[in-house]
Amino acid sequence: MPKFNPKHSLAQLGEPYSLSCSPTRVSAPQWLAFNPELAAQLQIPEVFWGTDTGLGLFSGNQLPDWAKPVAHAYAGHQFGNFVPQLGDGRALLLAELEDVNGQLFDLQLKGAGQTPFSRRGDGRAPLGPVLREYLVSEAMHALGVPTTRALAAVLTGDWVQRETAEPGAIITRVAKSHIRIGSFQYLAARGDTVKLKTFADYVIARHYPACADSDTPYLALLEAIVAAQAALIAQWMSLGFIHGVMNTDNMSITGETIDYGPCAFMDSFNPAQVYSFIDTQGRYAWGNQPKIGSWNLARFAETLLPLVSENAERAVELATQALQQFNMLNETEFRRLMGIKLGITEPVATDEPLIRDYLTLMVKNNADFTLAFRLLSQSVTDSSAGAAGLFADNNGWQDWAIRWHKRLAEQGVSTADIALQMNKVNPALIPRNHQIAKALEHAANDGDLSLFNRLHKALKTPFELSAETADLAQPPTAEQCISNTFC
Ligand code: AMP
Ligand code: MG
Ligand code: MG
Repeated sequence: MPKFNPKHSLAQLGEPYSLSCSPTRVSAPQWLAFNPELAAQLQIPEVFWGTDTGLGLFSGNQLPDWAKPVAHAYAGHQFGNFVPQLGDGRALLLAELEDVNGQLFDLQLKGAGQTPFSRRGDGRAPLGPVLREYLVSEAMHALGVPTTRALAAVLTGDWVQRETAEPGAIITRVAKSHIRIGSFQYLAARGDTVKLKTFADYVIARHYPACADSDTPYLALLEAIVAAQAALIAQWMSLGFIHGVMNTDNMSITGETIDYGPCAFMDSFNPAQVYSFIDTQGRYAWGNQPKIGSWNLARFAETLLPLVSENAERAVELATQALQQFNMLNETEFRRLMGIKLGITEPVATDEPLIRDYLTLMVKNNADFTLAFRLLSQSVTDSSAGAAGLFADNNGWQDWAIRWHKRLAEQGVSTADIALQMNKVNPALIPRNHQIAKALEHAANDGDLSLFNRLHKALKTPFELSAETADLAQPPTAEQCISNTFC
């Protein structure tokens, strides 16, 4: 039986991978949210659960002895431009906790004050983005997407100056790892192959132990991360999720979604959709995510070249082969996920036109991404019901529905079972931008967390809809529609 026995292997690895750094005191910490299920999974003693002792830990004001705060060093390509030193400018890794299944998880405070990597930043996080990350990351988890989790959120009692002054807050995040592609880029940019190898060996030992048995462990590591990211990005795509800032410093080596900034679930489907007001070129638009994922992994592969083979040409050849797997893996997984969303139990390559044509129909009719799949289960037996209502081009819909019904009929599965299965993979509830915005507004203006709590609760069971949650499934009206989200 595992027990609460905090570790900190990254801190033990020492410099230059991380620098020890204490949180900066905050004035008057107050609870915003706490996740008891996650705390139980991580075997965190109940003395920290929603108590003053917990407030000391999750505000950084009074860390227990077992917490050894460090800021992790990393570099990164931001919108394509390489920055050789970024690092945790407002986050501190406190410990690694073993969960009830023996899996290790990082515990990280975000917004806990300046670190040696803060550059000109204040090291703080405003309330709005903290609550957004809490809601969206927990919703992603409930949707079955690998992600950082939210364990706690507290108010600091201090103001944070952004465009306006906002209440400061700190979120405690949990993930298998906070190591990024940028972590490797940091070491590679320093030209320190010995430290790079030490770090790669550390990552293999902690996260990909099977690679150690390979004749080419660093190539195996690249292949494993290519596979993890190909699958993750396919999942984002299948849910209409836009990460928003896929810089290489925001791409995890475990294939978990990290760093919720100007992210969003799309309302009406537009492959070119972005929510970040600085992403004027649409670099990180929904439809560009696989291409960017692949580009980022190429930057990762470059860092590993000296470890892959002493023969530089051979190293490039091997890494290129590994990278070429990305598109195949991502497309196959996307097709599988989308096929299942359409009620196809075993999607095959010839289903691609049916999938593609449905997406095209959605774009042409400005259909809501989430509803276009959720309502489809009601159209399995009657093509004038369910999703039909989303398409002004009724002929286009009917033509597609004939082909779709034909494909479903080939399977020899009852229509009731198909519809049931579809409702298990097509969420009714996603964290809709306009609902999040309203929840954050209430929290910031009069400290009213009731909508935040209501959303949070409803999003725990995104595939179920009840009379109490029906309003949360509604897309925004034109006036309610949000076009920018913030970090
Ligand atoms: P992000 O866009 O959140 O991925 O952050 C990019 C880099 O900027 C990371 O090195 C962050 O630690 C740093 N950063 C972002 N906001 C702040 C802040 N308020 N204070 C200090 N560093 C920050
Ligand atoms: Mg980041
Ligand atoms: Mg961020």
